[in-house]
Amino acid sequence: MAILKTEAILLKSWNFRETSKLLSFYTRDSGKVKMIAKGARSPKSPLKGRLEPLCHLQLVYYHKQTRDLQLLTQAEIINPHLQMYGNFNKSTLGLAVGELLDKGVGGQDAMPALFDLFRDVLDVINQSSGFTEGVVWYFEGRFIDLMGYKPTWDTCLRCSSPLSMKGGFFQAENGGLICHDCGSTYGGLQVSGETLEILFWLQKAQPHEAVQLNPDMGRKAEIRKMFDLYFKTHIEQMRTLKALKLYYEMHRG
Ligand SMILES: [Zn+2]
Repeated sequence: MAILKTEAILLKSWNFRETSKLLSFYTRDSGKVKMIAKGARSPKSPLKGRLEPLCHLQLVYYHKQTRDLQLLTQAEIINPHLQMYGNFNKSTLGLAVGELLDKGVGGQDAMPALFDLFRDVLDVINQSSGFTEGVVWYFEGRFIDLMGYKPTWDTCLRCSSPLSMKGGFFQAENGGLICHDCGSTYGGLQVSGETLEILFWLQKAQPHEAVQLNPDMGRKAEIRKMFDLYFKTHIEQMRTLKALKLYYEMHRG
C-alpha cells in the first residue's frame, strides 16, 4: 500500500451506505481512479462540500494495486468551478466534456496532457462569457489527437489534394475528409468550406480563444455532426452522449 498525492477532477459520485461516497476521478498521475470517501457525508467530515462533480482538487489517497476502489483521505480544492453551477449552458457543457473523457478513456494509464487539457477547458467554460460551445469543439479536436484517432483534416483521403473553401465530405469510418470533386463519386457527410476553416483555426487556437467563435446555425450543425459521427464510429461507449444531446436539444436554432 502506498500513499499517493495527485491533482484530480471529479467525474461522478454516488452515495454509499449511511455517510460514505463512491467517487470516480480523472487524476493527473494515474488516469481514471475510483475511490471511496468514508464518512464524507457526515456533518463533521473535512471532505464535506468538497466532492462536487467537475471540482478540481488536490487529493491524498491510499493506493493498493490489487484493489479496484482506493481510499481517499484528503481533498483540497484548487478550483471549484463554481460559476458552472446554476448556469445551464456552462454546467451542461462542463458535464459533456467530463462525459466525453469518461467514456473515451478506459483504464488507469496516466495521461497528464489529457488531464491538463480537461482542466484548462473546464477553467475556460467556468470563466468565460462568450460562445462556450466553441471550447467543447476545441476539447473534442484535441481529445481525438491525444487518443490517437486524429483524422486527416487538411488533405483529401482519395487524391491528396489540399482541401479548399469549396468544402469537402467527411468520412468518419475512413478517418478524414475527401475533397469536393472526389465527394461526387464517393460521398460522405457534406461539409462547407467555412466549417473546415473553423476546424483548421481551432487546431492552432488556445482554449480561451475558442469562445470568440460564433458561427451560424448551419456551421454549428455541421461541426456537431462531424464530431458526433466520429466518436460514434470509433469509440463504442460514445454512442450515447447524454449531456451533449441535452445541450443540442436546447440549442437548435
Ligand atoms: Zn480528392
